Amino acid sequence: MKTDIEIARETKLNKIEDIAEKLGVPRDEVQNYGRYIAKVPIHLIDKKEMDKHNLILVSAITPNKAGVGKTTVSIGLSLGLNKIGKKAVVALREPSLGPCFGMKGGAAGGGYSQVLPMENINLHFTGDFHAVTSAHNMITALLDNYIYQNRNSCEGLKEVKWKRVLDVNDRSLRNIVSGLGGSANGIPTETGFDITAASEIMAILCLATDIDDLKRRVGNILLGYTYDGKPFTVNDMGIAGAITVLLKDALLPNLVQTTENTPAFIHGGPFANIAHGCNSVLATQMALTYGDYVITEAGFGADLGAEKFFNIKCRKAGLSPKLTVIVATAQSLKLHGGVPEAQIKEPNKEGLIRGFANLDKHIENMKNFGQQVIVTFNRFASDTDEEIALVAEHCKEKGVGFAVNTVFADGGKGAVELARLVAETIEKNPSKPLKFTYEESDSIRKKVRKIAEGIYGASSIVYTTLAEKKLKEIEKLGIAHFPVCIAKTQYSFSSDPKAYGVAKDFELKVRDIIINNGAEMIVVVMGEIMRMPGLPKEPQARHIDIVNGLIEGLS
Ligand code: ADP
Ligand code: MG
Repeated sequence: MKTDIEIARETKLNKIEDIAEKLGVPRDEVQNYGRYIAKVPIHLIDKKEMDKHNLILVSAITPNKAGVGKTTVSIGLSLGLNKIGKKAVVALREPSLGPCFGMKGGAAGGGYSQVLPMENINLHFTGDFHAVTSAHNMITALLDNYIYQNRNSCEGLKEVKWKRVLDVNDRSLRNIVSGLGGSANGIPTETGFDITAASEIMAILCLATDIDDLKRRVGNILLGYTYDGKPFTVNDMGIAGAITVLLKDALLPNLVQTTENTPAFIHGGPFANIAHGCNSVLATQMALTYGDYVITEAGFGADLGAEKFFNIKCRKAGLSPKLTVIVATAQSLKLHGGVPEAQIKEPNKEGLIRGFANLDKHIENMKNFGQQVIVTFNRFASDTDEEIALVAEHCKEKGVGFAVNTVFADGGKGAVELARLVAETIEKNPSKPLKFTYEESDSIRKKVRKIAEGIYGASSIVYTTLAEKKLKEIEKLGIAHFPVCIAKTQYSFSSDPKAYGVAKDFELKVRDIIINNGAEMIVVVMGEIMRMPGLPKEPQARHIDIVNGLIEGLS
């Protein structure tokens, strides 16, 4: 089969105004970023139209390292729905540049199910990530300057919480000392970098409902504490307006097209392990304004991505999906059935069957949210009919809708059966209104316990002294009503990435808690998860090149 980039290159793209017009977005409203990419102004969002349309969440079983194919299947499902005559739009996150050069390669789908132009989407795109990086680091520079200028006065800060971000995987920046070189060059400070996808600004951009809400949230970011113990925010520096200016264009959803010239909104990119993991509220709302069926992806397994999608994004934005589609692959089922990673591509019935426990736990979790659930099997070339039949049989026994898809190899026609099942299920048997895992009024501890026990299956939770201290701080700030955003490994229900299947009777350790006062959520860090990833021994960068003007190696 051809590579992703070959398929991308061969696809004849339509002008983005034509894509917009077909969707119903007036041509004149489209703000072009070249011929095939545009931003769409948010005054077009129409709540009344949104209410008539159907939101579909795509999530997955616990992934293996290569990914289960949620993005590919989300795009493919939108292709399939369009094939059967429905007006469908996919809303996805923007890929982060850092991981494209590291382990993961691109994140714009794959095979005949991609969003295009993938070279742009995977790299600088419309500059949203750069805007987030600049806005975040501008706050840091202004804050460092504030501290420097006030170094001899009691106006200074005794504790600083704000660091820097960069959209590059760089482990050497996790912990650094800034301000070296004598008194003219700042005050030496122990600090560090997170990846841009983990920036509070990214979360804010993805949760903000308009430019005023964006400014309000930016202003509320907690930067540290003054010497007399008062919280010190962006508003206290008087720079919320300036930072919002840097984000003004980044706030607008990006419109692109799929390999079959159907519309796709790609906007915002918080990771699902260290952040809340879904595309922007505004992109979902824009897609819902114009599409009868909107497919959106929540990152990693349903324990992480879907949980945060429901409890954080849907709660805040008043969204309620009609259906959740869980993607499963034979490789991931086998990995979670105890088959060694090196052998998951080989047939192994027993291993596959043992892996059903992981799928079942995710199905049960989604049902507990009141979601109607169907399972789709994302077919890889190495998968056998016999294995697929086993998964189909298992879902039938559980009374869960099931369809195979071959979108990677076949594009939209590989999702016709899935699309029919999706449309029929939504028509006859849609989800109930969302049942959240916790109430906003629950304490942070109680919220964490409900997720850890109810969704992950943990038996106990312990807090480090640092985390306990942060809990007290949250109480004092009066923000315990914020939702929690768990930062945890994506490879297991537990915080041990090697505990496959359905981990049982495990303890979870809350190592740290990060207050996102502007994003209005509390990031709870469990286990050894890194907020700045590193690069592998054989980074994808070794395969990326430009030859005769064409980019290679972004798969
Ligand atoms: P996720 O969103 O779950 O992380 P992606 O859709 O990004 O997964 O897919 C991960 C990788 O696997 C991508 O490189 C994608 O092209 C590839 N992939 C997905 N589905 C298939 C398939 N059925 N066959 C081969 N490769 C696939
Ligand atoms: Mg994805």
